Amino acid sequence: MRILIKNGIVIDMVNKEPKVKDILIVGNKIEKIEHKIEENADKIINAENKVIMPGLVNCHNHCAMSIFRGHSDDLELQEWLNNAIWPVEEKLTKEEIYYASLLSCIEMIKTGTTTFHDMYFLMENVAKAVEESGIRALISRTVVTEEEPRTRLKEAEELYLKYNKKANGRILVNVSLHAPYTCDERTIKKCVELAKKYKMSIHIHLSETEKENKDIKEKYGITPTEYLKKNGVFEVKTILAHCVYLSSNDINIIKKENTGIAHNPISNLKLSSGMANIVKYKENGITVGIGTDGAGSTNTLDMFEEMKVSAYIQKVLNKKSSCINAEDILKMATTDGAKVLGLDKEIGSIEEGKKADIIIINIEKPHIKPINNIYSALVYSAVGQDVETSIVDGKIIMENREIIGIDEKMIMDKCQKISDKYFR
Ligand SMILES: [Zn+2]
Repeated sequence: MRILIKNGIVIDMVNKEPKVKDILIVGNKIEKIEHKIEENADKIINAENKVIMPGLVNCHNHCAMSIFRGHSDDLELQEWLNNAIWPVEEKLTKEEIYYASLLSCIEMIKTGTTTFHDMYFLMENVAKAVEESGIRALISRTVVTEEEPRTRLKEAEELYLKYNKKANGRILVNVSLHAPYTCDERTIKKCVELAKKYKMSIHIHLSETEKENKDIKEKYGITPTEYLKKNGVFEVKTILAHCVYLSSNDINIIKKENTGIAHNPISNLKLSSGMANIVKYKENGITVGIGTDGAGSTNTLDMFEEMKVSAYIQKVLNKKSSCINAEDILKMATTDGAKVLGLDKEIGSIEEGKKADIIIINIEKPHIKPINNIYSALVYSAVGQDVETSIVDGKIIMENREIIGIDEKMIMDKCQKISDKYFR
């Protein structure tokens, strides 16, 4: 398949200045980016007056949690997990996880995300949703301390063996530890062993709340980051979700290691967890990407909302409006996000030879015009619904806002029924 995108305003995330160019996609890769390309193609897309940019990278999600949308909205993290989420999760079936995940994949595609990073359970159903929707994902089975027979680690390994690099490489598998407060030392060490065995990265929630830091300090006498270091987590590539409360020693540990942070501003605000000072982390050379977290605590998976909120809370937190700008934020949602996941050689920017994960945005809208700075237009004015077309792995998966090959209405109806079953 050869796709030729003509005359788009290309924000490639490599060159600062946008340029009007043509892009030729052959197979799953970007073959050519030039001012004018006169070549045959199976499909020509006219992108005149539209923005062409890399698809957004959602660095932290639990995509099956869409069924929790709007359920138990106004709770703090521990109360929310213990009383609202975990008792229902125990009952979820494979089919429910599949439909809930597919709903999230649709939502992400329709708001510009082309890659997401996910941890949950019964993950073969998430993999199925990824495969069918055409999106790209790095997924894992969540591990916590458990009684005999310990099955989760085995499931994490099986997931890797069965699904890593499946769907033409769109599905990748790593391993996830839920959090320092749910994983004892033995569990963490076992996970590290597994990650080393298959060269997988580790995905973990870290220092999400003050309570977590206090509890770990009381139990082990050290911070959650120090606890992970003590148990060897940073010996492999690590993706740390949240990091709202890091000490200066924690920052020192993280900046030296092969690690990145997935910042989830809306979830942190809504669960009243706090605000992570990502400007400080970035000043220390730590790579920070943006995630949504699950729809149970964020309510939407729209990365455009996350981008805006990321910018605004830094300005307030640092009492300095210039501490971060729209271009920094867009970089976090694309190239830096890809780097956090260890996928920056393949995705995150529009470059010849990279995988063709591209979105086309309609900027001829009253809430975007007039445009003075394109980065500002995309981060501060645009919304997810402005994304018109999405290409992942060289395949058009949404065209003119229509998801290809999926009955959206049927999926929404199924998910409403699942939600009604548990919450009505
Ligand atoms: Zn999470």
